Amino acid sequence: MSNRQRPIRVIGNWKMNHGPASTHDFFSALGALVNFNKVEFAPLHKALQAGRLQIGIAPSFVLLGEAIRAARSHVPTLEVAILAQNAHAAKAGAYTGEIAAFQLKELGVQEAIIGHSERRQLFGESDEVLAQKLHSLLEQDLHVLYCIGETLNERQEGKTREILKRQLRTALAPNPETLIKLRDRLEASDATPLTIAYEPVWAIGTGVVATPEQAAEAHAWVRSELSEILGTSLSQRIALLYGGSVTPENFAGLLAASPEIDGGLVGGASLKVESLANLLKIAAEAPTSPSAH
Ligand code: PEP
Repeated sequence: MSNRQRPIRVIGNWKMNHGPASTHDFFSALGALVNFNKVEFAPLHKALQAGRLQIGIAPSFVLLGEAIRAARSHVPTLEVAILAQNAHAAKAGAYTGEIAAFQLKELGVQEAIIGHSERRQLFGESDEVLAQKLHSLLEQDLHVLYCIGETLNERQEGKTREILKRQLRTALAPNPETLIKLRDRLEASDATPLTIAYEPVWAIGTGVVATPEQAAEAHAWVRSELSEILGTSLSQRIALLYGGSVTPENFAGLLAASPEIDGGLVGGASLKVESLANLLKIAAEAPTSPSAH
């Protein structure tokens, strides 16, 4: 048994779903459901007050303002962070259709997902482009949730570690100077500005979740790789989320599998109020000493 070192994070990735009206309705219904007076949600409020749980939702860009307003007015005690699903590396300028860190920050967004497998596969974002984004966004004081993960073919060919290593090394340490700057930045910040999500591509949106053992093994390996890149103490500050077909049915098993599984990046199961509320309840009740594999 080993104690959790970091708060659990539950981050919903809404992808290209919901509109302004249903975003408002979502938070209003969440507020009515996850209510202080309901005994079943008492552990959730306790975990939030104790700083053991962090909640986030990443809606489409056009919903960010509405999501921030609705979360503040309907679920203030949940302190839901609103994340962007992407951001551009450049500070401003002639990039039609793109969104800059300063624009997000002015709205009240403090974190952006980058490197989601859909961005990599459908929009051709390379490790090099993602490295630029990661360092530029951190430099502009936007927190980053960086996604990594292998495809089914890569896993079947025994290349999982090679792929994860490449995705981690090219993004975090594209060259020695950038790595030094990253270390300094992580060292200087209280709330660590970098989260990593291990999302096996074969598990995203497929209904095929990694087994707790597979997830625990990958997370342990990613943590050891992070230790090599950043040093042990800095690596310990980075939250490692699992993503890929997380549901209320499998989430408890994943969180119990290893203290290195610091929560979930959740697509489909974050779109419905009841299912998100159940995930939050499960996270709040997760063992503080999960079994280490
Ligand atoms: C995701 O979009 O990051 C994701 C993990 O999706 P799902 O939970 O639907 O598999």
